[in-house]
Amino acid sequence: MKITIHGDYTINLNRLAFVNCQLVRENDGFTLVDTGMAGSAQGIVDAAKQLEMPIRRILLTHAHIDHVGSLDALHALIPDAEVAISARDARFLTGDKSLDPDEPHDQLRGGYILCSTKPTQLLKIGDMIGSLEVVASPGHTPGHVSFFDHRDKTLYAGDAYTTKAGISTAGTLKLLFPFTAMATWHKPTGLHSAESLVALRPNRLAVGHGKVLENPVEAMKSAIEDAKRLLGKMYDTTKTS
Ligand SMILES: [Zn+2]
Repeated sequence: MKITIHGDYTINLNRLAFVNCQLVRENDGFTLVDTGMAGSAQGIVDAAKQLEMPIRRILLTHAHIDHVGSLDALHALIPDAEVAISARDARFLTGDKSLDPDEPHDQLRGGYILCSTKPTQLLKIGDMIGSLEVVASPGHTPGHVSFFDHRDKTLYAGDAYTTKAGISTAGTLKLLFPFTAMATWHKPTGLHSAESLVALRPNRLAVGHGKVLENPVEAMKSAIEDAKRLLGKMYDTTKTS
């Protein structure tokens, strides 16, 4: 697990050079954002130990396998930590892959696995979990959420943005790192989310894949322009319907 510290509160944990999760420093301990692939649990717990604070809660941006893959193993190691995910993506953890009538009936993509760990909290948009506000960012998955730290304006965006092989929104295929785009459920929804996230004007962007970006607003805007060009008409049709 490669540990990098960004500012006062953000610790990025990177495994195998392509999957991140983050420890966020709070007064009572760490909030963990995402759990990485299977096999990451001990490394995450060891990182927190090394930094001498307990992990108090586990927040999940979405239910893909490379973000919830170590949830059950972590829950076994730190059973007292709270576990929170959006109500929408919590359904995937139980094997329910149905879409709601009001959702775009696009194909779900990416890996989903069953998790036996039951969330202790189902997140609603606008909830505050410590210093982090739950922000809607659907598109990559139907219930994808991001977390915005109001103390230093760090945005934990999961797979709503990717910074590996250059910054992109969830729907934009990067030849050197195509996996986030390939795993994206509904690209126009993801693009709307990318726009609402940049409107928060974050000072720092931490994501599931790729490095932590400082002062990311201009880069996020250019990723949105790239995505709009690629989605072209599809985006305009969705916006007006
Ligand atoms: Zn994903």
